[in-house]
Amino acid sequence: MTLDNIKEEIMSAKNIAILTHESPDGDAVGSALAMYNALKQLGKDVDLIMPEYPSIFAFLPSAKEIKETGKEDSYDLAIAVDCSDLKRIAGDTNFENANTTISIDHHGVNTMFADYNFVNPAIPACAQILITVLEYIGVQITKDIGTCIVAGIITDTGGFKYQGVTSETFEFVARLLNEGVNVSDVYKRVFQTITKTSFELKKLAMNRMEFLENGKITYTYITEEDKNNIGSQNGDHEGIVELGRDVEGVEVSIFIRQEKDGYKVSLRSNNYVNVSDIALLFGGGGHPRASGFTMNLPLDEAKERIISKVKMYL
Ligand code: AMP
Ligand code: MN
Ligand code: MN
Repeated sequence: MTLDNIKEEIMSAKNIAILTHESPDGDAVGSALAMYNALKQLGKDVDLIMPEYPSIFAFLPSAKEIKETGKEDSYDLAIAVDCSDLKRIAGDTNFENANTTISIDHHGVNTMFADYNFVNPAIPACAQILITVLEYIGVQITKDIGTCIVAGIITDTGGFKYQGVTSETFEFVARLLNEGVNVSDVYKRVFQTITKTSFELKKLAMNRMEFLENGKITYTYITEEDKNNIGSQNGDHEGIVELGRDVEGVEVSIFIRQEKDGYKVSLRSNNYVNVSDIALLFGGGGHPRASGFTMNLPLDEAKERIISKVKMYL
């Protein structure tokens, strides 16, 4: 069984790298930090490698230990969390060069790229899967580990409100509450409070929002110039794509943000459009109701191409 292999590999490894996807969200950062704290508890030599992450997660236990780059030598073991494919791992060379690799994830489109893959698309957050994995390998889920896990669950479930949340999610969170995790504080920090610059970015994106196809599609965008003018930080765009999705009658929300290396597209849907299928057409991936991909075209062209595809799925 995969969990036995995972346990065996973790137990026998001396030095371990933990990695997650580029542009890490709360589930990525929370899962990676939960794994970091757990492996430290087991006395391992661990590097958590993340070139950048949103500052709102800096309060999570051991966030100060996050390294921007890994070491040159290969690791005994590399563990990727919340990552659906190899090319999306930030610092993928550390992953590929490791002697053994493990992937723990919840994306239905996961390509099973590691030596051992523990993937369950039915679970709403990778951090929730980690509870099962960590307990299996004999880690005690402490308040610190639980805080990281709750951050992942809250962000990936939209604050416990998405489909996919089950009684097990609440049972796990109830147990974490009993461990002393301050769920309401984590909720406020990772889900409710936004930076001033994020607010400014949201205002801009909202003003620009277009309603298409009788209000079934919304579209908005943010450029590098906008971000520079506002002085925004990593992660300030979080929540913009949901603004469109949450309007009555909307099925698909499209949000494009310019990054240094191209346009990053986020798609969200409400009831029936499988946006993961649409993202796959453009070389990306995700979940049925939340997906993303990157595009290297002029903005207008990217917009037109995406909208024409989305229309076909309405
Ligand atoms: P985002 O819109 O960036 O919040 O991403 C929504 C979902 O799609 C998340 O589950 C991501 O992991 C996934 N996703 C975003 N971009 C990509 C990509 N380029 N390739 C594969 N999956 C992606
Ligand atoms: Mn993620
Ligand atoms: Mn996730």
